[in-house]
Amino acid sequence: MHDDLTKMAEPYKIKMVEPLKITTREERIKLIKEAGYNLFLLKSDDVYIDLLTDSGTSAMSDYQWAGMMLGDESYAGSRNYLHLCEIVKDIFGYNYVVPTHQGRGAEKVLFPILIKKGQYVLGNMHFDTTKAHIELAGGIGIDVVIKEAEDTENYHPFKGNFDLEALENFIKDKKPENIAFILATVTCNGAGGQPVSMENIKEVRKIADKYGLKLFFDAARFAENAYFIKQREKGYENKSIKEIVREMFSYGDGFTMSAKKDALVNIGGLIAIKDDEELFTKVKTILIPMEGFVTYGGLAGRDIEAMARGLEEVLDENYLAWRINQVKYLGDKLRDAGIPIQYPTGGHAVFIDGKKFLPHVPQEQFPSHAICVELYIEAGIRTVEVGALLAGRDPVTKKEILPKLDFVRLTIPRRVYTNSHMDVIAEAVKRVYARRDKIKGYRFTYEPPILRHFTARLEPVE
Ligand SMILES: *Cc1c(COP(=O)(O)O)cnc(C)c1O
Repeated sequence: MHDDLTKMAEPYKIKMVEPLKITTREERIKLIKEAGYNLFLLKSDDVYIDLLTDSGTSAMSDYQWAGMMLGDESYAGSRNYLHLCEIVKDIFGYNYVVPTHQGRGAEKVLFPILIKKGQYVLGNMHFDTTKAHIELAGGIGIDVVIKEAEDTENYHPFKGNFDLEALENFIKDKKPENIAFILATVTCNGAGGQPVSMENIKEVRKIADKYGLKLFFDAARFAENAYFIKQREKGYENKSIKEIVREMFSYGDGFTMSAKKDALVNIGGLIAIKDDEELFTKVKTILIPMEGFVTYGGLAGRDIEAMARGLEEVLDENYLAWRINQVKYLGDKLRDAGIPIQYPTGGHAVFIDGKKFLPHVPQEQFPSHAICVELYIEAGIRTVEVGALLAGRDPVTKKEILPKLDFVRLTIPRRVYTNSHMDVIAEAVKRVYARRDKIKGYRFTYEPPILRHFTARLEPVE
């Protein structure tokens, strides 16, 4: 129970609703079988609570919807673009910005400019499309996250931090001229939405300066990261989220952003650059054939307006407190029931440790995926495996890659579900956990050669 009763419930009320379709257990058993036991192949109408992703699934506010009506659909010089520039300058302190259709559009435009063939891009933990675009540009993505990120049981306030020693050693070993740039992902999605501390960002900047390297951000969850800094890092308790964001980004040279996360829109992305005009000119030159003219970048004017307003709105501390605590609320319920999760919970999701949940299922038989299937059958909840099924095979040896972290991700969309839904999810996980001994692993009946998790078909191993 909160002392302050105004902090106990959602800091918004509901003006429009979207009914959920309810299915029976028998129907779900049939539906998931027909979908080849692949949750990506389900119709979303057959899902009760959809925790597949927090990307593009946010509920927009009345202020954002009102902005949609003010879309200026001019090809060039749209007022919505000018508004976006103003907002980005005000929040991040960066001089140059262009919209893109989503985060990967930003990566596709920026990375080929920054990467020469064979160069490394060092990150805490690269997101999958980010790694793909590093490789498409001829680079090699390397993760240097602290080792605490892999220990799901023990508390660490900033599991998204760079291992500074590993970072510097890598640069010394491979020589600075073979490093394209450093990329800090905030929050660190791969480790479970875990934040990076201000101290760590500052130290990474120092290392970048020492070796003459640029530091960029992968900024999808910048506000959630800032909220964690305010909660957990000494000296930031009394700073506003906006001040914290401003300081974080003062250490960078630019960012790419998927606006489908913290910018609270259903589509959109950004490239922003602090002050390097020459780099901005190169970005514009590639943006035009790839995404569109500078002032729309693949989006409608109305989408840009919603994005500008979302960037402003996400800084609201009441919103962020609710958001982060809703994820924690679910995480605490699971932990109290003895269910192994990445602890502490991150900003956008609860990650269940699949290997610990189903120790009798070999990792090659996708224990985390088996849990996802059971959660669908139990209560129509769609989650996503972030483990061996996603990791795929080694391109050379064709052997299964068995990642250390093998998770079920319960990703919470922003402003969409209430805590009553969190209660249903927690109860479903507990019921599946109670019958875990009877849960079997999975094998392929069809395995696509690349990005197999999206279209694979599977069956239980009898
Ligand atoms: C979602 C995401 C991306 C890619 O953005 P899209 O909008 O999905 O193209 C890149 N990096 C991180 C950290 C993300 O979470």
